[in-house]
Amino acid sequence: MPFHMVVFVISDCGMNCPFCNQKPWREAHPRYEMPMSDLHLLIRRAQELGVVFDAVEFTGGEATLWPHFKEASRLVMESGIAKRMDTVTNGIAWHVLTDPDLLQWYPTIKLSTSHPHPDSHDALRRVWGDRLLENSMLHVRVPTEVNADYLPARCSIPTYVAYFDRVVYYCCCTWSTCAHIGMDVKSDPELWCPVEDDFVAHFANRKFDKPICSVCLNNSRNLKRLWGI
Ligand code: SF4
Ligand code: SF4
Repeated sequence: MPFHMVVFVISDCGMNCPFCNQKPWREAHPRYEMPMSDLHLLIRRAQELGVVFDAVEFTGGEATLWPHFKEASRLVMESGIAKRMDTVTNGIAWHVLTDPDLLQWYPTIKLSTSHPHPDSHDALRRVWGDRLLENSMLHVRVPTEVNADYLPARCSIPTYVAYFDRVVYYCCCTWSTCAHIGMDVKSDPELWCPVEDDFVAHFANRKFDKPICSVCLNNSRNLKRLWGI
């Protein structure tokens, strides 16, 4: 199965959006910056397991504020463990994102314009021209009660797994959704796996039937219920 690996590299982001999807993780790990030794470990394990990720995505926080962003991107691509790099940015470090060296590894840059002040949102849209960037994210309250009727989830990001601090997690929403329903992220051994284990096998047969999936906006059953789509 193809995997998209999301790597949590920094908890700072330069913004403090009240609706931040990664707020629980960011607040639990203030001033976190992933050491390069962690990246070397992840690369070694991926090579040992023979996995080539569809993409390695640095995230946080705002990944472009991570001091190792460029060097780490180069290392990942040169190691052969990913077909491409990926990131979603709030655009705060635009000078990083327009570095021509980086652009050879990032075929697309996803600029999330749902976060900034309306003025900066409009300014960013003008940078790119008409209608390329839309504020498409509607911020609504997600369900807070686990609802078995919404399981298994129709997960909109079924190939994503996530890495943080020598552990691979079920998906990049594991921390936030566990916090949302008051669940200890380590309480279900199927939700995580030490990177030294065979994490490819561990997550090969996810069924998206976890309590966290029932309250997640990546579960399209929730989108249907909340927005009728
Ligand atoms: S810019 Fe993104 S990561 Fe930063 S606080 Fe806002 S939503 Fe969270
Ligand atoms: S539906 Fe489940 S697997 Fe998919 S992103 Fe949400 S919590 Fe993760």
